[in-house]
Parts: sequence; C-alpha cells; structure tokens
Amino acid sequence: MASITLRNIVKRYGQGPKANQVIHGVNADIHDREFVVIVGPSGCGKSTLLRMVAGLEEVTGGDILIGDKVVNNLEPAKRDIAMVFQNYALYPHMSVFDNMAYGLKIAKVPKDEIKTRVDKAAKILELGHLLERKPRELSGGQRQRVAMGRAIVRQPQVFLFDEPLSNLDAKLRAQTRLEIQKLHRELGITSLFVTHDQVEAMTLAQRMIVMNAGNMEQFGTPEEVYHRP
Ligand code: ADP
Ligand code: ADP
Repeated sequence: MASITLRNIVKRYGQGPKANQVIHGVNADIHDREFVVIVGPSGCGKSTLLRMVAGLEEVTGGDILIGDKVVNNLEPAKRDIAMVFQNYALYPHMSVFDNMAYGLKIAKVPKDEIKTRVDKAAKILELGHLLERKPRELSGGQRQRVAMGRAIVRQPQVFLFDEPLSNLDAKLRAQTRLEIQKLHRELGITSLFVTHDQVEAMTLAQRMIVMNAGNMEQFGTPEEVYHRP
C-alpha cells in the first residue's frame, strides 16, 4: 500500500520554440488506500498525468513519489503499479486462468504462487467457475473482470485506471463501476482513476482532482467540489 505525491509536476511535449506545455505545475497528495478520480474535459491533461505516474511518459519538471520513493526515473515495471485501460485485450486463445496468469509467468513467479494468486483474484471477482473458459465464451462484464483480474494478481501498491468504462454500454458501465467499488473496498489499493464523465467521477471518487487546460483547479471530495457555498 502506498500514497502518491505529485510535486509541482510540469509536462512539455516537444523542444524549443515548438514546445507545448500541457501540465503547468500540479501538486497533490493522494493518501494510502484512497480512491482519487482525475476529471476534466478532453485534452486537459488527464491521461498525460496518469501516464507520468505509470512511467509511460517522462516528467519535464517536478517529482512523483509512490510511498516515500521518488519514481521519476524508474521504468514502469519497477513502480509497483498496475494499469487498467479502456481497450484491454484478452488473449483469445488462452483460458481465463492463463490470461490472468500470463504476466506472472513472464515475471517468473513460481507456479504454485501463480495458482494461489489467480484463485484469490478469481474469488474476489466471482470468476472461479469460469477459469477454463476462453474469452469468447464470456459476457462483456465477465471479460472486464478478467481484465481487472490481470491487474490484481500482480499485487500492486497502486491501481491506475485510464477511462476503463468509456467504451461500455450503459448497463455494463454501471455494473463495472460497482465492481471497481467493491474491489477497492475489499483490497483498499490506492487508486487513480481518469474520466471525462462527471457523474462517474462523483460516484467513484473519495476525492477528485478537477483539471482544466493543464491546471489543477480543485482537489476535494465530491461534496466540496460540487456544493461549494
Ligand atoms: P486528456 O487525457 O485530458 O484528454 P491528454 O493528456 O491526452 O488529455 O492531452 C493533453 C494535451 O497534451 C493535449 O493538448 C494533447 O494534444 C497533448 N498531447 C498528448 N499526448 C501528446 C504527445 N504524445 N505529443 C504531443 N502532444 C501530446
Ligand atoms: P485520450 O485523450 O483518450 O488519451 P487522445 O486522442 O488524446 O486520447 O490520445 C491518443 C494517443 O495519441 C495518446 O497516446 C496520446 O499521447 C497521443 N497524442 C495525443 N495528442 C497528441 C499530439 N498532439 N501529438 C502527438 N500525439 C498525441
């Protein structure tokens, strides 16, 4: 488990006169076990911020800490994070078990440890009876849960969600939102969740970071953000 600290984060794309600064000095302390949503219109810098925490994008200035460790120069695999994307792709020829186990096999986790972790994740996600199935034999919601299972088995300190619900129909979106809430209740993993959808943000967030044009405009609970006197 871990906190996430953003200290005066700046991001510029490009060099020299063509450089485009898209994040203008963001400061935030995300507490251990907290669920924080980054919300704001398209192009305001949400993904860039998340991708910098993930290590998929370099920071131009400032520091990112996970726990008490500055991670600016750590490759993604060394950051103890797991990312859940909008367009996850399950391996179609692999069973549910193998889909969840794949990353651990690559990381050379021992076989019995893999089984223990996959079984535990499957139990939390109610996938225990589906472990031998192939993705095409699953419903959309079940596939979504397998994608989350792949993140859980890595036992990360931090979950990063990049608009994971935005391509789903309304029913599946609501269902997956509940899954994510349940997951957070049970595992209590520090989570950063990006969305442009304010309703989604309000429903999921313990606190929300409201971004606009590369600036953090507000950081507070949904009540603080939406019901200011
Ligand atoms: P959001 O996730 O809020 O939609 P992004 O973080 O994707 O916003 O983008 C923020 C700004 O940075 C946008 O103006 C976008 O065009 C720009 N941007 C994002 N990625 C790149 C990149 N790889 N190179 C140059 N500009 C980028
Ligand atoms: P999203 O806002 O959902 O992240 P975008 O369309 O902004 O989607 O970005 C899709 C991809 O294109 C991302 O990898 C982003 O970094 C990249 N990108 C976005 N804007 C630019 C840009 N102006 N120049 C180069 N790459 C960009």
